[in-house]
Amino acid sequence: MLFLCATPIGNLSDISERVITTLREADLIACEDTRNSRKLFTHFAINTPFTSYHEYNKFEKAEELIGKMEAGAHIALVTDAGTPAISDPGEVLVRRCHEQGIPVTSLPGPCALITALSACGLPARRFCFEGFLPADKKERREILEALSSETRTIILYEAPHHLVKTLEALYTVLGDRRLSLCRELTKKHEEICLTSIKEALDAFETKEPRGEYVLVIEGKSLSEIKKKETEAFRSLSLKEHMALYEAQGLDQKECMKRVAKDLGVSKRDIYSALLSKEEP
Ligand code: SAM
Repeated sequence: MLFLCATPIGNLSDISERVITTLREADLIACEDTRNSRKLFTHFAINTPFTSYHEYNKFEKAEELIGKMEAGAHIALVTDAGTPAISDPGEVLVRRCHEQGIPVTSLPGPCALITALSACGLPARRFCFEGFLPADKKERREILEALSSETRTIILYEAPHHLVKTLEALYTVLGDRRLSLCRELTKKHEEICLTSIKEALDAFETKEPRGEYVLVIEGKSLSEIKKKETEAFRSLSLKEHMALYEAQGLDQKECMKRVAKDLGVSKRDIYSALLSKEEP
């Protein structure tokens, strides 16, 4: 069986008792960076053998670990910090276990995106998580353009040395939006700052980003989308607007109803405008 063990994202006291016990009792622990995990194991007196499972060996190593689990081993997976498989190599091993019919269980615990979302000060009911934006400029632009009409709160991970470039790209494509910069969560220098993309860019002109960041960005407001749509409909003549729905095979009455709704006027206004050939 595979046990996904969430480990602290900063504060060591955030580890759960169940994770400590599971790590102690597993046959083997697969960890992202053995130097990193060794400190955690020493701190909690975990003496289980461990092996590396990281970005650069994730495909071959997943097969080796699958072989061991098929032979009966219980393996625990930890990554450098937080919940395995969330923007880290864990995802590959989890998928392979499902494909091979090996049971997987997740021991919940710290996760940077959820920690940031709960404290960010932006709407937390509906959100989307994008992880790290791709390094490739074209791919990054495509993703940002798709995100520009996203109405849910958007969460990104970013390394400090890429932060300013990412904020610039966000400002170019999304414009200024409210932004919660969540830095060094659960650590001594934790900062959760509700600001805007532009204000954050201005602030980084005089100081360098340091530490680990989660960016939480306000989604596009529904009222703004509606306003833009209404503006687009208003730029059509009544004839063109009716034709839009006629082309969908709708009858006159239904077309009038939809045009009236798009323009925020009554059906009677559209009917009279069509008779008088004036715009409503
Ligand atoms: N699996 C992890 C999780 O559950 O959050 C995330 C792994 S991902 C490789 C590492 C990224 O998570 C960092 O670059 C940063 O964006 C974010 N992160 C991790 N720890 C953080 C912390 N203490 N404060 C802010 N962001 C953090």
